[in-house]
Amino acid sequence: MPELPEVETIVRDIRPSLIGRRFASAKLTHDDVLRGVSRRGIVRGLAGARVEEVTRRAKHAVIRLDRGTRLVVQPGMTGSLIVHRKALTESEARYGVLRLPLEGGGELVYRDVRRLGTLLLLDERGWSAYDAALGPEPLSVEFTPARLARAFAGTTQYVKKALMDQRLVVGVGNIYANEALFAAGIDPSRPANSLTEPEVGRVHREVQRILNAAIASNGTTFRDYRTGTGESGNFQLELMVYEREGEPCRNCGTLLAGTHSIDARITVFCWRCQRRHDGRTE
Ligand SMILES: [Zn+2]
Repeated sequence: MPELPEVETIVRDIRPSLIGRRFASAKLTHDDVLRGVSRRGIVRGLAGARVEEVTRRAKHAVIRLDRGTRLVVQPGMTGSLIVHRKALTESEARYGVLRLPLEGGGELVYRDVRRLGTLLLLDERGWSAYDAALGPEPLSVEFTPARLARAFAGTTQYVKKALMDQRLVVGVGNIYANEALFAAGIDPSRPANSLTEPEVGRVHREVQRILNAAIASNGTTFRDYRTGTGESGNFQLELMVYEREGEPCRNCGTLLAGTHSIDARITVFCWRCQRRHDGRTE
């Protein structure tokens, strides 16, 4: 599923083509991506609305409309959000779940082959509740090492799971949790509350560094992720551990290990570079 850098890339790409523009109409082909809104509600809510702002919150693109509502798009694993300047080709239109032609030309399309993403249309109250349930943005000034230390101190869950817990900090999913913990030299199966202050400091620094580097590379593309202009991301070329199980560690040459025992997802790590430094015996 697209994480913070991928959604940030999409938002930066589509923003200039959308601000101040009006949706001429709205066409939804499938209802199963909707959450808390009906087909009729979303079509009526979007047709004729003008875009005031395009931002990102956590792993979601947020399009604020002149009606005081927000279209929130959580692209699933096979989801993309692209502004097309010309009429769509047949293959571009295929799997277009939500199509929003713009007055004056062009079209915003949410395309989702397997329809694993979700669409919400929130009023001010709905948005406040939604926003409040999410933790701090990892690239914001609120996200300090002290704040991360407090979040980790309050949980015995694995540090990898804690990093991916959207109530503690948003935007980090499997790819960037793997990468940040490798870069910080932390065993992903350690309980979050066992990390020392310097260790939390390293995790904090590496999360920010890696997210920024991934944004600079337009995100990570394995299969389906596309930027807001339909291009592939490039950060997959810089990954140190994710999807590299069995390959040599780029630091020490040890073959990288993989496990599904931390969460249901694959965790890839280096036994040597991420060994325990907390005084416990192996
Ligand atoms: Zn290593």
